[in-house]
Amino acid sequence: MSNILNNEDSEKKSYKDSLYTIDKKGRRKWVYPEIIYGKFFKIRSVVAYLLMAIYLLTPWLRINEKPILLLNFPERIFVIFGKTFWATDSIFLMLLLASLGLTLFLVTSLFGRLWCGWACPQTVFLEFLFRPIERLIEGDANKRKKLDTAPWGIEKIFKKATKHLLCAIFASIIANTALAYFIGTDKLIEIATNSPLNNPILFSVMVFLMFIMAFEFGWFREQFCTVLCPYARFQSVMLDPDSLVIGYDYNRGEPRGKKSDPNAGDCIDCKLCVRVCPTGIDIRNGLQLECINCAQCIDACDSIMTKIGRATGLIRYDTERKLLGGERKIIRPRLFVYLSILLLYSTLFIYLLINRSEFDFDVLKESQSSVYQESPDGRIINQFRAKVSNKSTVEQTYKITAEVLNSPDTSYSVTIARNNMKVQPGQMIDNLPIFISLEKDQLEKGQKEIKFEIEDSNGNKIIKTSKFLGPTN
Ligand code: SF4
Ligand code: SF4
Repeated sequence: MSNILNNEDSEKKSYKDSLYTIDKKGRRKWVYPEIIYGKFFKIRSVVAYLLMAIYLLTPWLRINEKPILLLNFPERIFVIFGKTFWATDSIFLMLLLASLGLTLFLVTSLFGRLWCGWACPQTVFLEFLFRPIERLIEGDANKRKKLDTAPWGIEKIFKKATKHLLCAIFASIIANTALAYFIGTDKLIEIATNSPLNNPILFSVMVFLMFIMAFEFGWFREQFCTVLCPYARFQSVMLDPDSLVIGYDYNRGEPRGKKSDPNAGDCIDCKLCVRVCPTGIDIRNGLQLECINCAQCIDACDSIMTKIGRATGLIRYDTERKLLGGERKIIRPRLFVYLSILLLYSTLFIYLLINRSEFDFDVLKESQSSVYQESPDGRIINQFRAKVSNKSTVEQTYKITAEVLNSPDTSYSVTIARNNMKVQPGQMIDNLPIFISLEKDQLEKGQKEIKFEIEDSNGNKIIKTSKFLGPTN
């Protein structure tokens, strides 16, 4: 391990033993991060408000009257960019999830925890919606700390009530939007405008989500990143010395000391980088699980370096290898592995999507019965099982036909249990029996080729072939 990760003085040992936000008795220590409106904060603000707009608007946007994104798990309907998928399309869901997972691995390997600091809803809403509300009502970090330790009075009650009321309103908007992704906006409006008794389960889910959001952004906050989030724990396997991280230039900064001390490094130990950290950690201790890569410490340290007339970048986006004086290697074997699998999955996804039909049809030999049966008049009977699934968004009527190839029409008969059947959108008809009887003398070496054809209401057809089996003599 590098000295960046392993500074073994007593102060640095203690950061590994406990979370900054938990005291020795296991109680929560509240974080009062200061704010520096530096370069990265400004860029992150633009990204954050753009992401918020996308999040809030997406459930309301339509392509051909269908939502851009709907993940209706209860009814097993999934709409992605206006295209409807059903439970029978699980291959698409599987490929999509696998590709998203691989993308996360690839991006983390290249850019570290960029997701946490720039795009995670937890960070985006907390840092750019809830904390600004808090600063507006309760003031800067010092004032907030003072207010929290002050005895309850009119001012404190008023400020806390206003803050929590506003947070609850925004939390309910976020929660209702989240619900809209799963049930659709029409259903959301129906629940919101009707008596809770009309939709008791969904109404309860809505209230529960609102409570969770208010709790999360009002109280739980950075604990989610430091205690609950699994991604923070996976990072150690996804990161390598050439991944982009936010790090402190140990060689340049140490030993810490006054600006006037000629033997001291560039760090003047002002601790502004610690005071701005939303998870309360000291980046100078090296890479830590609690670091969400928000770049606030970069803005803080750059502002100090500018003030004291030294080069910025004592804390910066860099790789561990470069921070230790080496050269960054962008091309690494693991990137090729991630990219190759991702390319394979994406190609397969696009290929399947282009060739995806509006319905599926399959015919199998009935496995429960013997290979063939012989009727008293000497004809041979085979039983098949058809499966039809309607993947369109409207009801369809399906007509199935079967033909024994190279045999006169009079030599065989076909019985289909339900033909011209109506199938609802997303519905699958399984185990549809088809019986075919054939004159024995039509068999060639004990078998015959059969063609099954299905046609939907729009004239789309699927053809399948199978073997008719009988005695070989
Ligand atoms: S150490 Fe820096 S980048 Fe990491 S969470 Fe704290 S302020 Fe953000
Ligand atoms: S802000 Fe910069 S100078 Fe100040 S303590 Fe942090 S690293 Fe050192």
